[in-house]
Amino acid sequence: MRPLSTGKASVARLAGKVLDLIYPRNLYCLCCGDTMEQSRIHGICDNCAKKINWLDHDPFRASLDEFAFDHLLSCCVYGFYPRRIMHDLKLHGKPYIAENIGLLMAEKVQAEMSPGGSLEDIKSFTAMVPVPSTPKKIKKRGYNQAELLAKCAAKKLGMDVWTDALEKTAETASMRLSSGLERRNMLHGAFSVPQSACAKVRDADILLVDDVVTTGSTADACAIALRDAGARSVSVLCFASSARAFEFGQEE
Ligand SMILES: [Zn+2]
Repeated sequence: MRPLSTGKASVARLAGKVLDLIYPRNLYCLCCGDTMEQSRIHGICDNCAKKINWLDHDPFRASLDEFAFDHLLSCCVYGFYPRRIMHDLKLHGKPYIAENIGLLMAEKVQAEMSPGGSLEDIKSFTAMVPVPSTPKKIKKRGYNQAELLAKCAAKKLGMDVWTDALEKTAETASMRLSSGLERRNMLHGAFSVPQSACAKVRDADILLVDDVVTTGSTADACAIALRDAGARSVSVLCFASSARAFEFGQEE
């Protein structure tokens, strides 16, 4: 069950529920708010979909050697509309957005695992593991957006989600203005695999899920923890990733 949250977050959620009744989901575009055909199950109208920079390659492919994860699957570049959608999901109390975006992420996995895709060599993943959030953030929002996205994507793919395989063991200061290298140093050791999950993580092929990847620091720190616990492979799935991957980031 949801933990008790702050008054502000509760009001925002309540307002979101009321708006849900007035504006049923999928009738209005998540990006521009215009009406759209109900058949657009991803919640994005054709006009806005054209303005999003959809990715058909791994944006980190030139620098994967520097990271502990094997692949990065990202639906699109973290531009204007993806940023708006993620802000609505994370900051404006609209968790239902995870259903639309989780579906897009599931389709990305399916595309990459089909012949010719970057995951052709990985026959199947053992489970999805969402990047954990801090108790403080979960209390404020009422949910962890990475976990919601993982659960929605996993439902479509028929995969397990392990929410207990990673924990954030260190609080980190705000990293908004930190460089990629600084962020990686700050995050190193911030995540770990609890003793209770070590057995199932060993030899597992993990699909780590986050909403946005900018510098890759968070995903790297999680992948290091999973690898240290014996995971055979760690790939990363996100909705959007920064085109300026190594300059600065706003992952959280
Ligand atoms: Zn639109």
